[in-house]
Amino acid sequence: MKDSNATVTQLALLQQKLHSAKLALDEVNEDRNAKLQTLLQFIGHLSLACKGQNLELDNKLAKLRHNLNTFDRVDEALPELVDVERLLKGQYHHVMVQLEESRAGLAQVIRQIQRVNSVPEKLKKEINYFKQDLAKPFHTVWEYIPKVKQIIGFYDTILQQQFNGTEKLDVLPKHRQLAHELAQMISEIEFRKDQRDQVLVIKEMLASDIEIDNLLEAYQTILSLLLDNIAREKSASQEFLYALNDALAAVREVVSESYNHNQRSFQLKTQLNREINSRVDNVGEAIIDTDDIVDLKARLTEQLNSIRSALARKETLEQREQALLRKSMETMRKELNELSNEANTYKERLFEQQKLNLLDSLTQLPNRAALEERMELEYRNYQRHKSPLWIAVADIDHFKIINDSFGHSTGDKTLQVIAMALKNSLRDTEFVARYGGEEFVLILPDIDDSDIAQLLNRVREKVKNIPFKFKNQRITVTVSIGAARVMGNELIHETFERADAALYKAKHESRDRVVIDV
Ligand code: GH3
Ligand code: MG
Ligand code: MG
Repeated sequence: MKDSNATVTQLALLQQKLHSAKLALDEVNEDRNAKLQTLLQFIGHLSLACKGQNLELDNKLAKLRHNLNTFDRVDEALPELVDVERLLKGQYHHVMVQLEESRAGLAQVIRQIQRVNSVPEKLKKEINYFKQDLAKPFHTVWEYIPKVKQIIGFYDTILQQQFNGTEKLDVLPKHRQLAHELAQMISEIEFRKDQRDQVLVIKEMLASDIEIDNLLEAYQTILSLLLDNIAREKSASQEFLYALNDALAAVREVVSESYNHNQRSFQLKTQLNREINSRVDNVGEAIIDTDDIVDLKARLTEQLNSIRSALARKETLEQREQALLRKSMETMRKELNELSNEANTYKERLFEQQKLNLLDSLTQLPNRAALEERMELEYRNYQRHKSPLWIAVADIDHFKIINDSFGHSTGDKTLQVIAMALKNSLRDTEFVARYGGEEFVLILPDIDDSDIAQLLNRVREKVKNIPFKFKNQRITVTVSIGAARVMGNELIHETFERADAALYKAKHESRDRVVIDV
């Protein structure tokens, strides 16, 4: 009995322990479930953060969230987790690839920014550091965003600088072409003496490394110089017309004055003639009427005195008339002299202008307009007589180097000396013009095919032998020449094209040579 009591007591004790253990277990379970629930909720929330990257992943995560919400379905959710994990890994990989691509994209943008010449030094350094930093890979999207912000900052600074107007515009090939064309145009225009210094500065500027601002300024200056010349020319013509008008007015006045005067003299003379005639008549009547010789003598004397006086008045009148006429003639002669002087000056200026229009101002050789004229003339001769006619184009070799090494004005002097050498190496019937820049065109009539190479090589040698000395340095300047003969019925400009092509060949065959197109 005692044993069975003890057993009961032990059992009760065990039951109690079991109960408390169960309570403790429940408590632990509840705690664990609560934590698990929080964890599941957290996972659910976390999964929301991945939303929008991949549709399949989105669907799986939505299902997972749903299952995780209801605690009972956790078991169902477990197999899904494997899929989700696979998708997440794939997505992670995908994001990493994208980040790498974005990094490469940013590097490309930075390289582009570095190509902007006008970036200030400080910003250049900053961009350089940024570029070095960009060499390290990104691990998360969050590293990417500040980099983008920084690049936007760089662009912002550069744009601000450009808007501030401190940015110099890039000089493009088309701007260099414009500078070249302006230089060409200037060389063909004759400027007044007082304008030449200004033009020289522009010429030198155009020959060096140009800037857009300078180019625009050069165009503006040349334009205003030309407008000034036109205005002067116009006012000179106007002055001449005014002078012509004044002279004509004076002449008209003199003519009308002498006409009026003549009218008056005519009336006076008629009156005097009438008086003389009546006196003569009176003398006749007196002779008929009078028998008394004394009376007759007295009457005759009176009449003769009257006639003498009338004649004297007539003479005075005629003398006055002569004097007036002389004076008028003198005035008219003076006016006409002045007018003709004026006309002569004007004619001379016109002649000078015409001459200048055909001369190149730097070398004093005929210019392109004169060349055209001469080519036409020689071509007409050729058509008439069919005697040989050659066109040669000569271009100074590496002339740019002379300008670059010794300056543009040395280049100009070199051009002048070479132009003279070319002119002096030709006969009077031959012709050389400055075609433009450092190019010359020769027209050579009546040269046989067998002689042309020798002639042109002599010209080439003549230039080569000029003893140029720049900055105490002996320099040899050479020319390349291309030539062609007018063939059959071809136009002279076609011959010119062939000569130019031959020059091109000479340039490619090492320069300092003559190439004849056959
Ligand atoms: P290449 O042998 O191929 O002819 O070389 P290059 O240097 O002579 O030819 P390029 O056409 O490259 O350069 C011609 C140079 O001539 C450039 C230009 O500045 C210069 N030039 C043209 N006209 C004048 C001028 O009136 N005065 C001066 N000083 N230079 C001129
Ligand atoms: Mg040249
Ligand atoms: Mg050239």
